[in-house]
Amino acid sequence: MKIVEVFASVQGEGLRQGLPTLFVRLAGCNLRCRFCDTQKAWRGGRPKTEASLLKRLDALRRRDPAAWVCLTGGEPLLQDLGGLVAGLHARGFKVQLETNGTLFQPAPFDWVALSPKPPAYFSHPRWRASAKEVKIVVSRDLTYAAIEKLRGEFPVRTPLLLQPQSNRAESRAKALRLFRDSARAGLPNIRLTLQLHKIYKIK
Ligand code: SF4
Repeated sequence: MKIVEVFASVQGEGLRQGLPTLFVRLAGCNLRCRFCDTQKAWRGGRPKTEASLLKRLDALRRRDPAAWVCLTGGEPLLQDLGGLVAGLHARGFKVQLETNGTLFQPAPFDWVALSPKPPAYFSHPRWRASAKEVKIVVSRDLTYAAIEKLRGEFPVRTPLLLQPQSNRAESRAKALRLFRDSARAGLPNIRLTLQLHKIYKIK
């Protein structure tokens, strides 16, 4: 596998916010979002076998106990994750996938955080029923129409999280505007969030 970094931290985004988590950042992405805050993952990465990656996660867990491993990127689904997910489950980890949603793999992830990206905000239909949350970066591109489209594509039980771009003031103001517009229009289960790790200044 091509891996950019492996580290222990706290989940800073989405509904699992605040929980101790080990992160595996996989190399490569099939998109080039202009607001991307992980461009270092677009290319490169070090080759690692699944066995050495699992060994590294075991070692990290001894120092920083965590029940969850988050597979992130870049776009993790560019690489076959089936063997890694099985190895993590065999060690008792729960596995979160962070994906832009354009690709699909049938591995048994415990939590799928899907973050569709502009301009199309496309997500593979196979994720629609199983995603636990849909994170929408409140970038310059985001419109109310895009939120309405996504709300129509996912079950009402799946929250759409408005996530200001890097917690910036102008993005927070836009998120609040869109949140209120959504509420007034009767769109259900739209929520406001922030990136916790950027507030705490942790990785
Ligand atoms: S999908 Fe994510 S990792 Fe890829 S370019 Fe967009 S923000 Fe960056």
